[in-house]
Amino acid sequence: PPAIRKISEKHDKVFVTGCLEPDTSKPRANAAFVVLARNKELDGVILSMKSIERHFNRWYNYPYVFLNDGDFNQTFRDTVRKYTKANVEFGKVGPDMWGYPDWVDTKVAKEGINKQGDNAIMYGGMESYHFMCRFYSGFFYKHPLLAKYEWYWRLEPDIKYFCDITYDPFLEMIKHNKTYGFTIAVKELRETVPNMFRYASAYMRLKGLKSQGLWEFFLEPQDKDRSSRSATNDDGSPRIPDVDAEAMEGERYNMCHFWSNFEIARLDFFRSKEYEDFFQMMDRSGGFWMERWGDAPIHSLAAGALLATRDIHYFRDFGYRHTTIQHCPANAPARQLPREPWLEETTADERERIAEDKYWEHWDAPQENGVGCRCR
Ligand code: GDP
Ligand code: MN
Repeated sequence: PPAIRKISEKHDKVFVTGCLEPDTSKPRANAAFVVLARNKELDGVILSMKSIERHFNRWYNYPYVFLNDGDFNQTFRDTVRKYTKANVEFGKVGPDMWGYPDWVDTKVAKEGINKQGDNAIMYGGMESYHFMCRFYSGFFYKHPLLAKYEWYWRLEPDIKYFCDITYDPFLEMIKHNKTYGFTIAVKELRETVPNMFRYASAYMRLKGLKSQGLWEFFLEPQDKDRSSRSATNDDGSPRIPDVDAEAMEGERYNMCHFWSNFEIARLDFFRSKEYEDFFQMMDRSGGFWMERWGDAPIHSLAAGALLATRDIHYFRDFGYRHTTIQHCPANAPARQLPREPWLEETTADERERIAEDKYWEHWDAPQENGVGCRCR
């Protein structure tokens, strides 16, 4: 968080201050919403769509691409189409992008996953979650339905946007030469990625990559005097012995990552040879099976290795919530909206699904007057 705030102060400014009358006269970017989901998540998908349509897409009409390792049923397809006037496509994720690759020993992998379950690692014992993380780490951008797009905005079931977004974030990303945008950054559960950083760091050295400023945001503050390091990390977990730190040239992962359930990014970053090499190296280590590597720290460390600080945009003006974490920007003056019943606020039933009181904010909102629109 303080480090992320530094990004925003030094290298990155809010794109638009205040609340605009959305300008829909400009051509759209070559972009789409990407939603991976299952049929049983339909209610959560509708909540997310209602929220993004009400606060943004009613004006901009960006298309949606829904992806699923199974087949979307007719109810899912018909219902989703009722909540947007934008174009919607449904795609299947094939076995080339989902499940175990042929080079993996599935017996070993399954044992690894079961062990993570026994050790109560969050989602660690859930095979499908491993498939999902690997898909979002190394494949979604290769899906045929995304081939025609240059940009994506990731959307998940059960998320909520609560401020109007009255400008086109894709066009602003293009104008400011940005590659990757986030709105929440948090710390990963250490036990899900015990060896991820070792491989990411090895990739940097192997490829002779020098930090362009972003890599440091993912590093523990270095103690100059190794002997004065305590035996535990900030969260009380045992510190990786110094011999490991030495193998990583003294660098240790601080567990920070951009929370990838929201992302606005350029697809060609992921489609680059550099990212592919990175993914291959991470993948071949077996970490998607023997550990429960999330796509969020994978995307983040790849960005750290390959991008410069100025390539990142912090959407601090977006009010956004996913499960238990939300980002709440400073409010600007209210803007009167025309009332359209189907875009109205969530119903009591829907609110019940998202019990408001259990949320915490991931860090203090920057108090910049006039950022964003009225949030509600
Ligand atoms: P969390 O946000 O980390 O708690 O994980 P989610 O359960 O929200 O999963 C992340 C995204 O992947 C969501 O968009 C889910 O709908 C989707 N997802 C997770 N597992 C599967 C799966 O097995 N199949 C499909 N089709 N989508 C999945
Ligand atoms: Mn989720």
